[in-house]
Amino acid sequence: MRVLLLGSGGREHALALGLAADPNVEQLIAAPGNPGIATVADLRDIDPADAQAVVALAVEIAADLVVIGPEAPLVAGVADAVRAKGIPVFGPSAEAAQLEGSKAFAKEIMTAAQVPTARAYACTTPEEVAAALDDFGAPYVVKNDGLAAGKGVVVTDDRAAAERHAAECGRVVIEEYLAGPEVSLFVVTDGQSAVPLLPAQDFKRVGDGDTGPNTGGMGAYAPLPWTPPGLVAQVMTEVVHPTLAEMRRRGTPFAGLLYVGLAITADGPKVIEFNARFGDPETQVVLALLETPLAGLLRAAATGTLAVHPPLRWSAGAAVTVVVASANYPATPRTGDEITGAEVPGIIHAGTRETDDGRLVSAGGRVLCATATGADLNAAREAAYALVDGVTLDGSHHRRDIALAAAEGRITLP
Ligand code: AMP
Repeated sequence: MRVLLLGSGGREHALALGLAADPNVEQLIAAPGNPGIATVADLRDIDPADAQAVVALAVEIAADLVVIGPEAPLVAGVADAVRAKGIPVFGPSAEAAQLEGSKAFAKEIMTAAQVPTARAYACTTPEEVAAALDDFGAPYVVKNDGLAAGKGVVVTDDRAAAERHAAECGRVVIEEYLAGPEVSLFVVTDGQSAVPLLPAQDFKRVGDGDTGPNTGGMGAYAPLPWTPPGLVAQVMTEVVHPTLAEMRRRGTPFAGLLYVGLAITADGPKVIEFNARFGDPETQVVLALLETPLAGLLRAAATGTLAVHPPLRWSAGAAVTVVVASANYPATPRTGDEITGAEVPGIIHAGTRETDDGRLVSAGGRVLCATATGADLNAAREAAYALVDGVTLDGSHHRRDIALAAAEGRITLP
């Protein structure tokens, strides 16, 4: 199988490792990729959101499968363009990707499919915003109604800050606050059949103890020892299958990766958000535990044959990833700092670049993801933090409490 992977972040490096390890993959090409991905794939420098360029490359290399990592190409219709050429593509159509692209559309689908989620209002005027904030009270949840790379949400007790965010966004969804620990569940689907991966948890706030501003994600772990029994089956029945059925009913079936972000509330699991692609950095830990060959699984979803795909196999044990972020992230991250010690297994490149003279430097806010497995969460944490200790990056910071509460049995359900 010849596989073309689109994207350049930590998620794509994790996908590249999984795809390259599949014995049926004879060639892996990544566009544009990054220096970590370059160790397992041939890189081609094209814009992954440029549908024509992607189609031309997929045809040139006679790709048997195109895997789309990030959301921007999906919303731009790259999957549609590749599919129109008869090439199997893992990633939903532009219309189906609106489950992520528009918070208001996602709410509409959830309402129609009777999926448990937070009550919400779509608001555009200051009067609508004020009425919605009054209705729900603090903490306020204000979401930009558009693609914001996971950073368009403000959760705050500060009424003025909530109103400011709404005014800056123009069109927002304001919703009820859901109290309870969060779970990320990835579901591989061909539009009809659906296969859940292991639930994972990520860490959105920049600081230990969930303090400071929101980020793209500072770490993750899997599996989750604290989830109620039957959680995944319940989410498949109450959330995933009704959502897929509603998307089919509308003539816009969702095929690809449905990312279900949940809060485990006192009333059971409720959807916080849908994404139309693998989450970053949860992908790094989930794929670290997946033993089933990845390209075969994604190709089954891309060709509508998931129903006959064998059940997934998982490693025993746990995986932890710790994000090493650049100075000043998430505000205005400093880039161009030299990185050493990154050429070891388990160091996943998220925002790195090679200079003309061959040095590895930071090129984004989230720079590396130190990813390790172990017999349990404690062992995986220890191994992941040992990887962090082996890296140097001036001014970098990372959380020290990734997976700690879970490892110590301190996560309680409401
Ligand atoms: P989203 O982009 O919708 O995932 O939101 C980013 C983060 O904001 C989520 O991971 C949650 O931590 C938080 N969040 C979003 N919506 C809610 C909600 N209704 N209640 C509580 N927290 C929320």
